[in-house]
Amino acid sequence: MMGPRQEAQAALFYEFSLEDHVPQAHLLRSIDRFVDLSGIRTHLAEFYSHTGRPSVDPELLIRMLLVGYCFGIRSERRLCEEVHLNLAYRWFCRLDLNDRVPDHSTFSKNRHGRFRESELLRHLFETTVTRCIAEGLVSGQRMAIDASLIEADANKQNSTPKEEWDATTIDPMDAPRAVREYLDTLDEAAFGAASNVQPKFTSHSDPASQWTAARKGPAFFSYSDNYLIDTDYGVIVDVEATRSIRQAEVGSTKTMLRRVKDRFDLHPERLIADTAYGTGPMLGWLVERKIAPHIPVFDKSSRSDGTWTRADFEWDAENDQYICPEGHALKQFRRNYSDPNRGPTGKGTARYRALKLTCQACPSKAKCCPNADARKITREEHEDARQVARDIAKTRQYEISMKLRKKVEMLFAHLKRILGLGRLRLRGPCGANDEFLLAATAQNLRKLAKIFPAPQQTRKA
Ligand code: SF4
Repeated sequence: MMGPRQEAQAALFYEFSLEDHVPQAHLLRSIDRFVDLSGIRTHLAEFYSHTGRPSVDPELLIRMLLVGYCFGIRSERRLCEEVHLNLAYRWFCRLDLNDRVPDHSTFSKNRHGRFRESELLRHLFETTVTRCIAEGLVSGQRMAIDASLIEADANKQNSTPKEEWDATTIDPMDAPRAVREYLDTLDEAAFGAASNVQPKFTSHSDPASQWTAARKGPAFFSYSDNYLIDTDYGVIVDVEATRSIRQAEVGSTKTMLRRVKDRFDLHPERLIADTAYGTGPMLGWLVERKIAPHIPVFDKSSRSDGTWTRADFEWDAENDQYICPEGHALKQFRRNYSDPNRGPTGKGTARYRALKLTCQACPSKAKCCPNADARKITREEHEDARQVARDIAKTRQYEISMKLRKKVEMLFAHLKRILGLGRLRLRGPCGANDEFLLAATAQNLRKLAKIFPAPQQTRKA
């Protein structure tokens, strides 16, 4: 039988409880158990005036931002509408049905002001890491690092080619916020000072973003989101925004490893990464700190003409020489110098040479050095560390590490597909940092919620 037509009838009084209308299995119920904002009022206290009108509760703003980043609602205007309409969002934000949702402009005022000055978003991110550690999700033994390009809010039409770009002509007093941040970070290793090479184009609206092409695809302006994760459960233990160039991304490794040591006393036994991180200085830095580099060595010594490579020569550390496949020595110095400054220094690139006479008479010359009188081999400053990495690459543990490295790639895929962070909404290095911190916080909270879902209550009969 067809039921009666549904007519809208405004009741005079409602008896309504938000608590009853949010499903027990809702993701926000699980996330809510891990959101600890108890310390943020104290953290922010000195950044608020003691006089004037009371501000919007910072806890409410943070809860709304978390909703936005957990559910991929990128626009703050839309976030305000969604929180206004969605009962679960209201419940999570501690807003009753009659409570007003703050205006979207409140977010930018707070973000550019006290949130940044107090580093509140980093504090929030580190609070979730502390919780992950407390819940036993982080052992700190095996960590993986990687970077992903996130498109900046900039386009080529509004940019200048490198031949015409001159940062010294910009008046900071008359420049937008993102341009002032670009000028402020010109000497920072993560941004302006990462490389002397000028990018092909510089954006007018966000000059700190890097004109770059990923995997030989179309070029665009971007920032790099750098993640350091613990591979046990894929918890993000640190995050850093940098320019999208290899030097800056690799440099962030040191920043993040130092920071997790300072903040959480985490010092990994091994670090897993891809070839971009396998440069001599990086491997040397890790080996010096007793961190095993499970990283493919960045090696340019391979040859494409089929002749023997450096790997075919045996290193004799005791005598500071290489031994060629024919059993002859390649030496750096063939006599003892009375002046110690002319002997081996142990620093920089060293060249090892075979004797011309030996090579000329060698039956394997065509396979070794067909176009030279004698074979030469270079040895980089951090060759010992490279060898450590090469030896690790032959182990079963390394194979496991290469599989674990996928976890950080999965997090980036999740970041872009589920959380919708394919393109930044905020400009400048600070904007990129804010977005990356909030997204990493959301990812850690979602991870906690997934591993420890809220207990389901059975309905009373
Ligand atoms: S060419 Fe020279 S370096 Fe090469 S295998 Fe022969 S002797 Fe050794």
